[in-house]
Amino acid sequence: MADFYQTLGVERTASAEDIKKSYRHLARKHHPDLNPGDKAASERFKQVQEAYDVLSDPKKKTMYDQVGFYSESGAPRGAGPQPGGPNMGFGGFDFSDFAARGASRPPGSTGYPQEETANFQDIFSQWFGRSQNAAQQAPQKGTDLEYGLNIDFWQAIKGTQARLTISRHEGCTICAGTGQRSGNNTLCPECNGTGNVTQMAGAMKFSLTCPKCEGGGRLRGRCSTCHGDGRIAKTETVDVRIPAGAQQGARLRVAGKGNAGTHGAAAGDLYITVRVEEHPFFRREGDDIHITVPVRIDEAGLGTKIEVPTIDGRALLKIPQGTGNGQKFRLREKGVSRGGTRGDQIVEISLLAPDVRDERSRELLKEYAELHPEDPRSEIWSKV
Ligand SMILES: [Zn+2]
Ligand SMILES: [Zn+2]
Repeated sequence: MADFYQTLGVERTASAEDIKKSYRHLARKHHPDLNPGDKAASERFKQVQEAYDVLSDPKKKTMYDQVGFYSESGAPRGAGPQPGGPNMGFGGFDFSDFAARGASRPPGSTGYPQEETANFQDIFSQWFGRSQNAAQQAPQKGTDLEYGLNIDFWQAIKGTQARLTISRHEGCTICAGTGQRSGNNTLCPECNGTGNVTQMAGAMKFSLTCPKCEGGGRLRGRCSTCHGDGRIAKTETVDVRIPAGAQQGARLRVAGKGNAGTHGAAAGDLYITVRVEEHPFFRREGDDIHITVPVRIDEAGLGTKIEVPTIDGRALLKIPQGTGNGQKFRLREKGVSRGGTRGDQIVEISLLAPDVRDERSRELLKEYAELHPEDPRSEIWSKV
């Protein structure tokens, strides 16, 4: 019989993701549509499908890993050594009893109903001292939640309090997270409360611990509130404090406000990514604030003092005589306060061309031009 791991070209320790990747690669390579008339490829394609069918299904894979074969009828298909599997010496037993117990295969169905396979699996698990259920019920930490929060420029500068509506899984209070119904337990229908089931395997008769109630004889129903999950989805409001100076893309963590864990495990965390809306004039770069202010040519030419906006309010800025377009001035410690330090404000000058609509302005500019006949581009010409 083929070694399914070998067929898919993966190690026995390969992850589900690796198995899938390898399967996809091989299935594409040997696909009949891509290899018309190639019998070997079509045979190989079938083998790859068969191997993946088993190794992609956790229950089938567990059985394959433990006993070295998987078959829905319970008997090994084909003969020969079981590579990697334990030598259990099952030869001679008729395993079909186990699988076929209770229900017959519905017409047209290619496999046994889910529950049938599961029981068969549980019995195998018991033989090897392993319970599939135990693995599924191990406590697992809750997953983290990610939310985005939009705040405006000023809220980011000054800090703010925001209320966020989130939906998260919370531990079910009705069953205290166990997923089980409280009160009277019902008799296990599998073993009629004895805790044991009898199985025939060929000529052998086995008495096994009932896989359904795990020997307890009684079953606890599922919690009707959480349907057995131990958690319920809940919409909740969370108050978040955004510290002053919060930056674009800042990520805040609220511990324990992610999804609840299963079976009493810790909850995940809530992460909030801050998105800061733009201001029409102030631009933020780190903790510095940048602003571009228009200045008339007479202000720049003669020098003056102008008022500029800062995040604290108006501030006076001296424009020296002969200030050029694009020139920058620094207002120290007028930027963003964050963690005890403060950035600066950078003011960039944008020179406005004079708006000449009247005759008098035209005359004045012409007069100015006559006083300054030199070519303003002379430096360029000297170097080109
Ligand atoms: Zn039982
Ligand atoms: Zn519950």
